[in-house]
Amino acid sequence: MAAHRLWPGVCRLFAMGPELGSARRAYSAFQAFTEVLRLPSKQLTKLVFPLQELHGHFVPGSRPDLHLNIFHPSLEDIARAESFFTASARNRIEYLTSAVRLDHAPDLRHPEVCFIGRSNVGKSSLIKALFSLAPEVEVRVSKKPGHTKKINFYKVGKYFTLADMPGYGYRAPEDFVDMVETYLKERKNLMRTFLLVDSVVGIQKADNIAIEMCEEFALPYVMVLTKIDKSSKGHLLKQVLQIQKFVDTKTQGCFPQLFPVSAVTYSGIHLLRCFIADITGNLKTNGFQFS
Ligand code: GDP
Repeated sequence: MAAHRLWPGVCRLFAMGPELGSARRAYSAFQAFTEVLRLPSKQLTKLVFPLQELHGHFVPGSRPDLHLNIFHPSLEDIARAESFFTASARNRIEYLTSAVRLDHAPDLRHPEVCFIGRSNVGKSSLIKALFSLAPEVEVRVSKKPGHTKKINFYKVGKYFTLADMPGYGYRAPEDFVDMVETYLKERKNLMRTFLLVDSVVGIQKADNIAIEMCEEFALPYVMVLTKIDKSSKGHLLKQVLQIQKFVDTKTQGCFPQLFPVSAVTYSGIHLLRCFIADITGNLKTNGFQFS
C-alpha cells in the first residue's frame, strides 16, 4: 500500500507543512492534503484511495475485478498535484467564460479537460470540491428550466482549462446534443472527458447519451462515480462492480480504473486532482502502472 511504501517521503512533506497548507487550513478539514496526511493509515486510504478501501471489504478469496493500480500515484505526487489547484497571485484559478456554441468557446492552447453528466449527478459539487483551494472561483450553476445551456470554462493557472458541460436529462434537446457533440468531436485541446455517474443509482439510460458520444468519437474518457458517501458499503460495492463490468465489457475508450468520489467527505478528490494534473501534462507522476 502506498501509505506504507512512502512514509519517508510523506514525513518530508510534513516538514514542508507551512508552504503546502497554511493558507488553506481555514477550509473544511480534508480539502488540503496536509490535513489528510495526519490521518491514521486506514482512514487515509479510505479518503485518498476509496476504491482500494472498498476492495478490502470483499470476501477474502473472491476475485472482484476492480482495477486498483492502473493509476496509483505516491502520496508525494498527490501532494505535489495540489499546488496546481491552489489559487495564488501566481496561479490564478478563475471562471473564464461561457459558450453556447463551440465557435463561441475561447481559443486556447492549454490542455483542456471536460466534465459531463446528467443533471443532478453532482457535477457542480464535484467541481467546487476540486476548486476548494481556490475559494474565490465562482462555479456557475444554471438549473432553471428554460435557461440556455452553456459550457462554462475555468482557467487553472497557466496549466489547463476545465470545461463544465451542461447537464443532460433523458430527453436531451436536439440543440443540446448538437452542442456537446460538436464540442467533443472538434475541441482540439480536449485531453480527457470526465463522465460522471451517480454511484447511488449506477449507469442510467440517459448516461448512455454521453457514453455513446465518447465511444463514437473514440475519445479517451474516465468514469467518475459521485456521491459515494450516500450509500451503504454493500450497496456501493454492488454498484461499483456493475459499473466496472460495464466498463470492461462494453467500452473501448473508457479508462479501466473507476474514480469514486464524494464532494461531502472529499474521498477521492485528491486522487482525481492528481490524475488531472498528470494527464494534462503538468505533473509527471509515477502513478501509471500499465498504461
Ligand atoms: P449537478 O446538477 O450535476 O451540478 O448536481 P449538484 O452538484 O447540484 O448536486 C445535486 C444534488 O446532489 C445536490 O443536492 C447536492 O448537494 C447533492 N450532492 C452532490 N454531490 C454529493 C456528494 O458527493 N454527496 C452527497 N451526499 N450529496 C451530493
